[in-house]
Amino acid sequence: MLACVPVQAAPPPGAPITASERAWLEAAHPVLALARHERLPLDVVVQPQPNVGEPPLATAFVAGRCKLVLTMRGPGGTPLPEATRDAALPAVLVEAMLAHELGHCWRHARGDWRTGPAAFGTADAALEASRREEGFADLVALAWTLQQDPGAYRAVHDWLSGQRAHPVHDGAEHDTRVWVTAALDPAAFGPPAPLFERAHRLWLKVDPTPAQRPTDPFSESRSAHSSPSLQKSPL
Ligand SMILES: [Zn+2]
Repeated sequence: MLACVPVQAAPPPGAPITASERAWLEAAHPVLALARHERLPLDVVVQPQPNVGEPPLATAFVAGRCKLVLTMRGPGGTPLPEATRDAALPAVLVEAMLAHELGHCWRHARGDWRTGPAAFGTADAALEASRREEGFADLVALAWTLQQDPGAYRAVHDWLSGQRAHPVHDGAEHDTRVWVTAALDPAAFGPPAPLFERAHRLWLKVDPTPAQRPTDPFSESRSAHSSPSLQKSPL
């Protein structure tokens, strides 16, 4: 069972937040502040169950609300091994990952999930729609970094490019290379604007046609979307 925590990130009853969870929640504070400002229907969920291989950070959509889910405990409630939870991940990347998830929430809250910018008329329509949502969320992550810490933009872009290119996801849900490449030069985002609108503006300009069609089966739940895997960053 999930232990639901309001956006203020109070500990779930009977399950105190661990040091690693607290570190992530503290790093999340600026992003959660934006969620409150935008009145997004966002809850933070700290799962007390052991992580059995799922992403330590993911988003689910339940009854019209976005659930930002942390699953960062090992057997018996012990912290995950450092290499797994990547406690050393720089805050600038944690924020970008959270902004990515917030991008998904924004689309859901607007009722735009899996809509536009072009009609989906192919047999792979569902997959293609999901891929475009991931592309939008990656642009939100980059726009967030550009807004909050422009000096880190190049490093965050390099990291995200690496995540999306290794391994290659040709045409799959997380094949967002066309959008990430479009944002190589941060000037592509144009003049300053509210975060989501700025990402949306660039998203609409990108031709989302994948270089290749999918070669792997759709592997991610349609109701839960994970952030880029937590690998050590060169930052
Ligand atoms: Zn995503």
